[in-house]
Amino acid sequence: MKSVMYHYVREYNSELPFFRFLDAKNFEKQLDYFDAEYGFVTKEEWLQVLNKKSLGSAKGKIILTFDDAMSCHYDYVFQELKKRGLWGVFYVPTQPYTKGKILDVHRIHLLCGAFEGIKLLSTLKELLDERMLRDKKIKEFREHTYTRQENYDGVSEFKRILNYFVSYQYKEGLIDAVALELGFEFNVSDFYVSVDKLTEMYLGGNIIGSHTVSHPVMSKLSHVEQRSEIIDSFSFLDGIGCVDVKTYCHPYGQFHSFNEATVDTLNSNNVDFSFNVESRDICDKDLSSSIQFLPRYDCNLFPFGKAS
Ligand SMILES: [Zn+2]
Repeated sequence: MKSVMYHYVREYNSELPFFRFLDAKNFEKQLDYFDAEYGFVTKEEWLQVLNKKSLGSAKGKIILTFDDAMSCHYDYVFQELKKRGLWGVFYVPTQPYTKGKILDVHRIHLLCGAFEGIKLLSTLKELLDERMLRDKKIKEFREHTYTRQENYDGVSEFKRILNYFVSYQYKEGLIDAVALELGFEFNVSDFYVSVDKLTEMYLGGNIIGSHTVSHPVMSKLSHVEQRSEIIDSFSFLDGIGCVDVKTYCHPYGQFHSFNEATVDTLNSNNVDFSFNVESRDICDKDLSSSIQFLPRYDCNLFPFGKAS
């Protein structure tokens, strides 16, 4: 059985000319391909699989998952799944609903979608003060950013500075400042699926799962911080009446993004299953040994799955 992960599924928007996304038409073509090649696991089959810890009739089929609760998951994905009688698992980071602000990870995507990398990079460098850098990274930053003046990719460099060189406490403020400088406004209510629409998707047969509160790299947090990321996000989803099966998905994914404390917390909070990012099929053994980090493929590994 294969689980497949999606993020942005949408149409071209001229306000975000550089934005990376899976075109909705290619999403449809990929669903056709999966249908012809493998078939889809029904929700009933999946609940059986969890119950019996055996793939049974689900063997060889596809389960669809969608991360980050972007509004396109309602506008395109849910509508298309409904049309086809399909369902999916949707993973929601809950902080945008409680804080009313787009997560930094998504604000970086939006800025990179709206502006050329070189422009973002020069704006960021103007605003950056070496005191904002992580102590251990200052030397590397100087060498890296001053010796490779030519021929670099502005976008990778922009992301690398924010995600890697800058101290965590300055990151949010710097993103605010870059956006202000470039006159770009973030609109949280357009960006994520609204609570009403999440409820509609849940009632329409989809599973809604936790993707933490603030989408951190969990392995960098203490056990206590990880517990609140997981427990608080489930409380929010419970509060809006969207939890039956309890499921979780590791932010960023892959084995370095979480640790034993994460898995302990998931087990002690009776989470039924969790997804990681690992490019291989789910086998029977995973249902016992890897239930809190089931393998999952990126959609770009299959035909029609490449980002535009
Ligand atoms: Zn995510």
